[in-house]
Amino acid sequence: MTIEQVCPYCGIKLDRWPKIKSRCRICGQVIYPRLQFRTNKILLLKKEELALNETDTEEYFFIKKWKSVLMGFGMTETEYEQLKQKTETSYESDVIWDGFNQLILEYSKKADFGQLQNIYYSMALFEYEEGRSPFQSLKLSNQMRLKRLQQKKNKE
Ligand SMILES: [Zn+2]
Repeated sequence: MTIEQVCPYCGIKLDRWPKIKSRCRICGQVIYPRLQFRTNKILLLKKEELALNETDTEEYFFIKKWKSVLMGFGMTETEYEQLKQKTETSYESDVIWDGFNQLILEYSKKADFGQLQNIYYSMALFEYEEGRSPFQSLKLSNQMRLKRLQQKKNKE
């Protein structure tokens, strides 16, 4: 773990790494040590930087959760990284969305309506958590369910 042992306010080199919030012995400002989950590094933050780090942490866990959903549908770490390279965006949530669409293509080729139903349902949950309308995805999930039932009936 590489750490920058300087006060975020005055830049003075600290002789000791603060484990809890502490005052800089030179400028007297309060320093907040916080773990940055994305990089697994401890950062020394100013008070006004705390909210930003919190948002960063929430985003980190949001992405981590939805990435594992993609993996649950069979996407590999390599495929995800390739998608990340291909997706021209600075928002990783767009990569998650592209991941879902890639899975839709794969399972459509196999006519696996059961999995398509589940993927569209997950997409609806993802949209809901992002504050977007999930209705289109829910509709598609239901359509896949009907197709799956039809497919089952045809086999009998
Ligand atoms: Zn200082």
